[in-house]
Amino acid sequence: MTAQENSNVESVTILGSGPAGLTAAIYAARANLKPLVIEGEQPGGQLTITSDVENYPGFPEGVMGPELMAQFRKQAERFGTKFLVGRVEKVDFSQRPFTLYFNDGLSVKTSTLIIATGASAKWIGLPSERKLWGKGVSSCATCDGFFFKNMDIAVVGGGDTAMEEATFLTRFAKSVTVIHRRDTLRASKIMQDKAFANPKIKFIWDTEVEEVLGEKEVHALKLKNIRTQEVSELQVQGLFVAIGHEPNTAPFRQHLKCNPSGYIVVDPGTTKTNVPGVFAAGDVADHVYRQAITAAGTGCMAAIDAERFLEHEEA
Ligand code: NAP
Repeated sequence: MTAQENSNVESVTILGSGPAGLTAAIYAARANLKPLVIEGEQPGGQLTITSDVENYPGFPEGVMGPELMAQFRKQAERFGTKFLVGRVEKVDFSQRPFTLYFNDGLSVKTSTLIIATGASAKWIGLPSERKLWGKGVSSCATCDGFFFKNMDIAVVGGGDTAMEEATFLTRFAKSVTVIHRRDTLRASKIMQDKAFANPKIKFIWDTEVEEVLGEKEVHALKLKNIRTQEVSELQVQGLFVAIGHEPNTAPFRQHLKCNPSGYIVVDPGTTKTNVPGVFAAGDVADHVYRQAITAAGTGCMAAIDAERFLEHEEA
């Protein structure tokens, strides 16, 4: 279905097709609300660029991220969810039905909206990082690790993502150097221990990447120790940036209450935003837990909140 063909008013529109969006779709579809899911540029969300998911309940042997999301989608489809691919650039929440405007000029009207647009990887912000993106610079080890067989790679960051990426990359790389701006990691103890125990992983502490060196491909990094100000070069052929995420809330920030980092604020214990009829679920409203299972849980809550909102309106 295209947005043009869709001239009706939807009862529930869900933005995003990660665990939060698709769980909301399963619940809303089973409530016979015929939800419309707008799949963004990364259908399936962040789990589609993850390898083994070992902490999603029900899969004692683990499950591959893309496989898990394919199952979510199948389940949502089974109960009559409609799907549309597009990017919402602008919204009008001033009256109901709300209007969603797409980047291609088309629009959708909807009585309620569930925002489950998730979060995206952050970048360091260097021009050279941008220039060499896809030419040795990446934010997804699962997607690109394979291209770095027997090479020396660096990972920037000190959180769970950085440890996970570094550990995963040792499957391919000759060596992985973790570059962290402090001298202690933010990652959970279990992930730290795994990385410290891996003979292929080295650490460079108190250090920032100042420049990615190379014209057509990465050949080294210019590093600066932020304690001693000492500048050095590290010969690597790949740089994986794993420094966290930011919520995909740009089209909503001027309409919805968001925290200083841009995450949507919801009423405690609900998925209700400050605009009645607009709900938020998953990482877009969660800077604390950010897990597939919590995203799925809040997706379920959002569908129930939307259903009750519509019921209350009809009563
Ligand atoms: P995070 O916990 O926010 O860690 C980001 C890391 O990047 C921090 O070490 C931070 O340094 C560093 N950093 C941030 N901005 C930087 C910059 N501009 N330059 C250099 N370094 C920078 O993010 P995350 O690792 O993506 O994890 C997010 C959440 O997902 C966490 O709750 C995590 O537990 C969860 N997660 C869980 C798993 C798992 O359980 N399998 C896997 C991945 C993620 P500082 O430490 O100095 O702030």
